[in-house]
Amino acid sequence: KDEVNIISGALELRKKKVSDVMTKLEDVFMLPISSVLDFETMSEIVKSGYSRIPVYEGSRGNIVTVLFIKDLAFVDPDDNTPLRTLCQYYQNPCNFVFEDVTLDVMFRQFKEGHKGHMAFVHRINNEGEGDPFYETIGLVTLEDVIEEMIQAEIVDE
Ligand code: ADP
Repeated sequence: KDEVNIISGALELRKKKVSDVMTKLEDVFMLPISSVLDFETMSEIVKSGYSRIPVYEGSRGNIVTVLFIKDLAFVDPDDNTPLRTLCQYYQNPCNFVFEDVTLDVMFRQFKEGHKGHMAFVHRINNEGEGDPFYETIGLVTLEDVIEEMIQAEIVDE
């Protein structure tokens, strides 16, 4: 029964798009690059429970890098380190994907691994007067794709 589910889930990956399974931008826990890594901010990061935190400059749609929890290993909250300093040191790249990419393609890309297991979802916004522009609408991780494949929720520890 489980096996049948997984096989049908795997076959369905071709029919679903990253926008169907992503975490919406408004629900993403992220930090402005102007943050200071004091006790309060670091507690909030730990409390969020996420291992990767997108970092934005200006507006939430303008994601410039990602902070990994492990990057905080040598940060002393008493030093009040600017997040910008840490981001400049690690320069973790962000991976972008278009909203209409199908999950089989996304899975293959995550599996190849060279761009990590998280991607930000882009949409081309051509509403309104001006030139079309890229809009960031959410994030998708390998876990979101695997949940579709096994058709069950993965409960995080
Ligand atoms: P983690 O390693 O942080 O637990 P996962 O890759 O296991 O992250 O993803 C678990 C779920 O949490 C997925 O649905 C993913 O879209 C979502 N997610 C990951 N990072 C964040 C974040 N910073 N803010 C909100 N949701 C996130």
